[in-house]
Amino acid sequence: MAYDFDLYVIGAGSGGVRAARFAAGFGAKVAVAESRYLGGTCVNVGCVPKKLLVYGAHFAEDFEQASGFGWSLDEAQFDWPTLIVNKDREINRLNGIYRNLLVNSGVTLHEGHAKIVDPHQVEVNGERFTAKNILIATGGWPQIPDIPGHEHAISSNQAFFLKELPKRVLVVGGGYIAVEFAGIFHGLGANTTLLYRGDLFLRGFDGSVRKHLQEELTKRGMDLQFNADIERIDKQADGSLKVTLKDGRQLEADCVFCATGRRPMLDNLGLENTSVKLDKKGFVEVDELYQTAEPSILALGDVIGRVQLTPVALAEGMAVARRLFKPEQYRPVDYKMIPTAVFSLPNIGTVGLTEEEAREAGHEVQIFESRFRPMRLTLTECQERTLMKLVVDANTDKVLGCHMVGPEAGEIVQGLAIALKAGATKRHFDETIGVHPTAAEEFVTMRTPVAG
Ligand code: FAD
Ligand code: NDP
Repeated sequence: MAYDFDLYVIGAGSGGVRAARFAAGFGAKVAVAESRYLGGTCVNVGCVPKKLLVYGAHFAEDFEQASGFGWSLDEAQFDWPTLIVNKDREINRLNGIYRNLLVNSGVTLHEGHAKIVDPHQVEVNGERFTAKNILIATGGWPQIPDIPGHEHAISSNQAFFLKELPKRVLVVGGGYIAVEFAGIFHGLGANTTLLYRGDLFLRGFDGSVRKHLQEELTKRGMDLQFNADIERIDKQADGSLKVTLKDGRQLEADCVFCATGRRPMLDNLGLENTSVKLDKKGFVEVDELYQTAEPSILALGDVIGRVQLTPVALAEGMAVARRLFKPEQYRPVDYKMIPTAVFSLPNIGTVGLTEEEAREAGHEVQIFESRFRPMRLTLTECQERTLMKLVVDANTDKVLGCHMVGPEAGEIVQGLAIALKAGATKRHFDETIGVHPTAAEEFVTMRTPVAG
C-alpha cells in the first residue's frame, strides 16, 4: 500500500525533531505534528528557559561577592518582568530555528493536535494522513498531587510566565525541578521554602552530594523542610495561600509550586485505536528498539519514562531514524554512564555510580572526597564549599562514579563522562596533569581514600 508518509512523528520536541530530521535526511518522507510549541518542553518550558532563570538568579551572589574584589555597586535592583520578556524573546527565536531546521530538512510540519485513528493513520485539524510508521514523541506533563486546593498550586509550566516574582514561595518536591526552582526563587529574592516528603531530597543521587547540597542551601538561608508532606491548600481572603501539612503544621505563601514529577502526555492521542500497551506507571511500553506492542508504532523520549533528559531523547530519536531508514548505521543507545547536572545553586554534576549503588552492586570500593573553599571566594565573605567525590573499584581501579557540588559542576562532569565511558582507572586520573589554578584539577589530585 502507498502511504502519504514513511514516518509520521507526533510531537516536535527534542526526540521527535531529531528523529524526523534524521529520517528525512536518510531519504524518508516525513511529517511532524506539533500541537503547542516547536522544540517541545526543553526549549519552551524546560532546560532552556530554566537555565536562563538560573543565570539570572546567580547574579545576586556575583554582586554580593564583587565587593571583595574592590567593586562597589549601588544597591542592586531586580526586575522580574524584564527577565521574563527577554527570556520569551529568546525562546521565540529558538522556535523559529526549530521551524527552519524541520522545513529545511524536507519535513512536512502540521501544526495541530494529532490523534491516531488506526495503526497507520493520524488525524490533525480534521485531515487524515496515512503512514507506514507512526512515532509517539509526545513527552510529559507536570503532575500535581490530587489534594484539596491543588488548583491553587502552579507547576513549572506556569512558573515561567508568572506576572511577578512572588514574595513567599513554597516549593513542593525533592527532585530536579524542585531544587532548581527553589534556587531560582531564592536567588531572585523570594522568601523560599522547599518541602520534601522524605528524609533528604534528591533521592537516587550520591549521599554525600545530597547532604552537601542540604548544607549549602541552608547556609544560603533557604528554608528546607524534610519529612513534610502537604495535605491541603486554602486560598485566604487576602489572596495568600495557607498550606496544611499532614503533621498538622500550617505555612503561608503567595505561591505554591509543585514539582512532584511528570506523567506521560497521552491526552486524546487515540491509543485506544491501537494495541499499544502502557507499563505499570502509565508510560508507553517499548522494547529495546522503541517498538510498541503495535507493529507500526514506535515511541521514545519522556513518554516512555526511561531517562527523562533531553540528550537521551535526542539519542533515542537518532537511533529510531537509523533503525528505520539506515539500519547499517544503527547503534543502540547506551544508557550507562549518562552524565547529568542539577542546576541548583550551587550546581550538581554527576556521572556513573553513586557510592550506594556501587556497594549495592557488590563492588569493593575506595572513596575519594575533597571539600574546599573555591579560590574565587577567597576574597569574599562567602563560606560556600565545593564537594568532589570519586567512587573507585578497589580491585580493578576503575573509576565507577564522579560527583560534584559546586560552580560549573555540569561543565566539569561532561569531560569526566568521556573518561569514564572510555573505562578510565584511578591511575589514569592520577597521571593526568591538572589545569592550574582551577577547581576541576581537584579531580586529578585526590590521593588518599576517605573510605574503603
Ligand atoms: P517533549 O520535549 O516534551 O516534546 C513533546 C512534544 O509533543 C511537545 O512539544 C508537545 O506539545 C507535543 N505533543 C504532545 N501531544 C501531542 C499531540 N497529540 N499532537 C501533537 N503534538 C503533541 N533535561 C535536560 O537534559 N536538562 C535540563 O536542564 C532539563 N531541564 C528541565 C526543566 C524542566 C522544568 C522540565 C519540565 C524538564 C527538563 N528537562 C531537562 C527534561 C527535558 O525537557 C525532557 O526530557 C525532554 O524535553 C523530552 O523530550 P521529548 O521529545 O520526549 O518530549
Ligand atoms: P522527579 O521525579 O525528579 O522528582 C519528583 C519529586 O516529587 C520527588 O522528590 C518525589 O518524591 C516528589 N513527589 C512525587 N509525588 C509526590 C507527592 N504526591 N507528594 C509530594 N511529593 C511528591 O521529577 P521532577 O518533576 O523534578 O522532574 C521530572 C524529570 O525531568 C526529572 O526526573 C528529570 O529527568 C527531568 N529534569 C531534568 C533536569 C536536568 O537535567 N537538570 C531539570 C529538570 C527536570 P520521592 O523522591 O519521595 O518520590
